[in-house]
Amino acid sequence: MSVVVHARVVEQLTRLRLRYVADRIDAMLNDAAREAPTYLDFLDAVLRQEVDAKQRTRTTMGLKIAHFPTVKTLDEFDFKFQPSVDQRLIRELAAGHFMAHAENVLIFGPPGVGKTHLAIALGRAAVETGHSVLFTSATALLAALAKAETEGQLAERLTYYTKPKLLVIDELGYLPFERRSAHLFFQLVARRYERGSLLITTNQLVTQWGVVFGDEVLAAAILDRLLHHSHTVIIQGESYRLKQKRKAGLLGNPTVPASVTGGARRQAGSR
Ligand code: ADP
Ligand code: MG
Repeated sequence: MSVVVHARVVEQLTRLRLRYVADRIDAMLNDAAREAPTYLDFLDAVLRQEVDAKQRTRTTMGLKIAHFPTVKTLDEFDFKFQPSVDQRLIRELAAGHFMAHAENVLIFGPPGVGKTHLAIALGRAAVETGHSVLFTSATALLAALAKAETEGQLAERLTYYTKPKLLVIDELGYLPFERRSAHLFFQLVARRYERGSLLITTNQLVTQWGVVFGDEVLAAAILDRLLHHSHTVIIQGESYRLKQKRKAGLLGNPTVPASVTGGARRQAGSR
């Protein structure tokens, strides 16, 4: 093979930003010499490797940008332990189509039943299907919005939280909102409405949201937008953490936590 042609091929691959192939062209040519694929198969293999490499880079970047607090995947989620979770719905959500229509996902359940686990796992799946994702706790989100408002940067901050195709808000309702926070949250929900998906985990009944937001009217306005195009995951089970403690003999008999679903199923029926 002419050294000149080889150098030209590498240069052109680099100009086309086909870095993966540019770095491995010799190995690929050696494989081809040995296996003698058809021209079409060779081209196919070369292009596929570049596409796969670009996809891996995109996913790695997307996961970094998303700021997930830990690594949790659907494969690690024990659906048998939590039979109230509709596995088919979760798999469907993982395929990512809900984001095309800016549909929301609400995950309800008492502490320890896997809400954050599913939120992270679905967020990761969204990144893997090529969507931009940002993960935040409700507390951090509200603190950031309040700070931005004080500093006259609210518009920019709202844009930051509006941009990702999927915004995951974890642990809504663990702390009640101040009135000002509730208004900020409303602004965010209104901004994203029918534009980008929200995935929210909460331990609170929908009927309790008036208390969470400190204002029934505001809570209704928020819920109205959140639930309009939404999928609801209701987890009614035992805490996974407690199960593990019980296994270790640290606890007595199971106590089934009170259901948190309340009116949720009824109100969230419009998926
Ligand atoms: P929640 O957010 O509902 O309070 P988490 O998602 O934080 O609960 O779950 C608590 C811990 O238990 C996490 O380490 C999580 O990975 C694990 N866990 C919860 N449910 C399951 C499950 N069904 N299968 C595997 N791990 C689980
Ligand atoms: Mg949680």
